[in-house]
Amino acid sequence: MRLTNGKTLLMVDGYTFSFSNQYKVSQLKVMRLANGKTLLMVNGYTFSYSNHYKGGQRWLCSGKDASRCRVFIYVNERMEVVKMASRDHSHKPPKYVRITNGDYVKV
Ligand SMILES: [Zn+2]
Repeated sequence: MRLTNGKTLLMVDGYTFSFSNQYKVSQLKVMRLANGKTLLMVNGYTFSYSNHYKGGQRWLCSGKDASRCRVFIYVNERMEVVKMASRDHSHKPPKYVRITNGDYVKV
């Protein structure tokens, strides 16, 4: 979707997103949960795997079910954040603790 002012917005399910380049790649952390799932943590928020796209993967905020949060990120094959929706999360960051074997559990 291209606006008349030249800005490109992405429309997903009726929501529009603009992308910011202000992300910090170093803040991405891959977390393995005690239940075997893998989450990505970026800026304190966790994302669960959604789908592949050409050149990488799309991950959705894992808080989306509880709070209908629509934030998502794109990562490339080296698990670096390449795009991130600049929309704010509709909830507070989840809290995880690391247990002795290195897995994470939600608290
Ligand atoms: Zn969220």
